[in-house]
Amino acid sequence: MNKPLITGISARQQDRQLCRVCEKHSSISENQECCPYCGSPISPRIENSQQKTWALLFTAFIFIFPANLYPITYLLKNGTRYPDTIFSGIVSLLSSGMSGIAFIVFIASIVVPILKIVVLAFISLAIHFKWQFNPKKQLIAFTLVDWIGRWSVLDLFVISIMVAVFDKGNFLSVYPGIAATSFTVVVITTLFAAQSFDTRLIWDANTDAR
Ligand SMILES: [Zn+2]
Repeated sequence: MNKPLITGISARQQDRQLCRVCEKHSSISENQECCPYCGSPISPRIENSQQKTWALLFTAFIFIFPANLYPITYLLKNGTRYPDTIFSGIVSLLSSGMSGIAFIVFIASIVVPILKIVVLAFISLAIHFKWQFNPKKQLIAFTLVDWIGRWSVLDLFVISIMVAVFDKGNFLSVYPGIAATSFTVVVITTLFAAQSFDTRLIWDANTDAR
């Protein structure tokens, strides 16, 4: 039933649309509302993809400041509270000789969220203003930040383990600070921003691109 697609022309120009649920393609003119195979709602492009991505990116951009400026964890040692921001945590990891872990935390918690916002914003701007950049390189950049972005959850995972392990009452315990909530918002909003981003729009903006 599915006729093979011709390379070099977008699927939309060939009257084909992809179902994001069952990943089968069908005719746009014949199936306007739902996928003929699985019945899921279907459209040639994700509806309002750019608006959703911008709204989520903007939220992530706001929350990245409290995430980095406020304490992410509090260490309670002998009744004294020691706050730690993401950065001071990395510095103390470095000073305790754990440079490998410090490097991973630095990449996962500081570099990746910022890189993800910058790359997604750049590709979105390129689509909006129809900047002619190599669409394949834009797609590679998107795939890369989307894949690495998932590792940002690592920091929250470490905090949750620390909270569970170091619970010795007033003697030694760790609990999350306000930045942990902000960081969670950054991780979730950037994940959803990548999810609502329709990579096919890159090709729409570069109509003569191959
Ligand atoms: Zn389907």
